[in-house]
Amino acid sequence: MVFGTSSQSHGSPDETQPAAGNEDASRPLLEEVRIIGSGASKNAGGTKVWVCNHCSIQFTSSYTRMHTHFFGAQTGKKADIRRCSAMIKDREKLQRLLSKVKEADSP
Ligand SMILES: [Zn+2]
Repeated sequence: MVFGTSSQSHGSPDETQPAAGNEDASRPLLEEVRIIGSGASKNAGGTKVWVCNHCSIQFTSSYTRMHTHFFGAQTGKKADIRRCSAMIKDREKLQRLLSKVKEADSP
């Protein structure tokens, strides 16, 4: 006769991890890069060390600069990050990414 002595349940079926906010949803560019670390900035959530998935160049910048990397600087603003060479070459890809970002921006 086997009478189970397994009193402890083995794990839970759905491991729900505490989500760290849903800021990724509003930052579609984070899907286009790989975050590999945080910058030396004291401002948490500010500077990130990231590698572009498209041109494979590593940068240390804020999310705003990421935007500039892909789409260029806004009119009247200085681009202080190198443009993505892959996006410059592939306008179709750039347009697709741009519409994705615009979609995420709209409420
Ligand atoms: Zn790039």
